[in-house]
Amino acid sequence: MDYLLLAKKYGTPLYAYDFDYIENQYNKLKKEFNARKSLIAYAVKANSNLSVLKHIAAQGAGFDCVSIGEIKRALMAGAQNYKIIYSGVGKSDEEIEQALNLDILMLNLESEEEMKRVESIAEKLGKTARISVRVNPNVDPKTHPYISTGLSENKFGVSIDKARKMYLYAHKSEFLDPVGIHFHIGSQLTDLSPVVEASNIVSKLLRELKALEIDIKFFDVGGGVGIRYDQENDPDLYAYAQGILSALKGMDVTIICEPGRFLVGNCGVFITKVLYEKTNDAKPESRKRFVIVDGAMNDLIRPSLYEAYHEIDALKEGESELCDVVGPVCESGDFLGKNISLPELSSGDILVVKSAGAYGFSMSSNYNSRPRAAEIEVKGGKDRLIRKRENFEDLIQNEKEFI
Ligand SMILES: *Cc1c(COP(=O)(O)O)cnc(C)c1O
Repeated sequence: MDYLLLAKKYGTPLYAYDFDYIENQYNKLKKEFNARKSLIAYAVKANSNLSVLKHIAAQGAGFDCVSIGEIKRALMAGAQNYKIIYSGVGKSDEEIEQALNLDILMLNLESEEEMKRVESIAEKLGKTARISVRVNPNVDPKTHPYISTGLSENKFGVSIDKARKMYLYAHKSEFLDPVGIHFHIGSQLTDLSPVVEASNIVSKLLRELKALEIDIKFFDVGGGVGIRYDQENDPDLYAYAQGILSALKGMDVTIICEPGRFLVGNCGVFITKVLYEKTNDAKPESRKRFVIVDGAMNDLIRPSLYEAYHEIDALKEGESELCDVVGPVCESGDFLGKNISLPELSSGDILVVKSAGAYGFSMSSNYNSRPRAAEIEVKGGKDRLIRKRENFEDLIQNEKEFI
């Protein structure tokens, strides 16, 4: 991608996504499960732009959604309803009802209480709800605590014992059809062996259920496949898939995998413009250099929220010095990078924040009344706008009639 050209053509701050990269990542993962029936169900929350979803749907992928809004986005982008999974720890009655009416593949349940809600809503609608239970296998994924979800102390899923009870209940219910079993232990796992460990634990329950003639058809291992932001190792996809396949030996189930970050993380960059540089007036030993840019934490919150590292490229040569790259938002936590080595910069220079395709735009906000950035795709060497830059009018449209 010619970042300078894109910045000039579309303005900054700007998200740019390489669609060919997404396709490659999809094929890489799909290929590992060739020996089996499998469904790659993209986790919409990582990047929910409609054009991104449309491109992923065209590969034959399914979608893992965590709200009715995400389900509607997926359908609008051309997803098939029988490839949509509805996960999430708190679904409202309205969302459950709409999901059942849309006849999606299944609802992932995260508590007994939720199961009872789904049952009564299905009964009211005269439907049978296809469900799976999210099991919390109590496996440590060894990732950042904020993105670890498979330990008993996390809010997600239910224990193996409770899951067993739920399956027995659902099996007897006229309005519930237990078709899947699910877990998701965390995100950004560069060592995927905890997923294999979880597969071994959960497949034992699956075997028990099959023995009771509860016909589970889908084994859903969640997402979490990590990517390279810095010096991380690329995860071993072969060992990951083989580990899962071997946990399922002799059982006729379709494997579902729900990658978010893996498909889109490194397809995207966040392009921002330098406003100015400044140095605080402290004594030389505590002197600090700040590069102030037009992008901020409201555009890309990962550095502030998870202390996540993103490589930042200045697109120019020169002697480098450490600096913090910060945005205009009124928070000390507003930074895109700390202690980054960059050459001397001046107003108008472009910085490229790498690995920004996942949990970038989708976590953005209007904090400080900042309009959200534009998004573009690059496909087969051609660039195209896929989301207009917001303007002031967009920010106030739901308020202005009330003053
Ligand atoms: C967030 C999430 C994913 C995707 O996680 P990644 O780390 O982006 O792959 C998949 N499944 C569920 C249930 C999730 O909550």
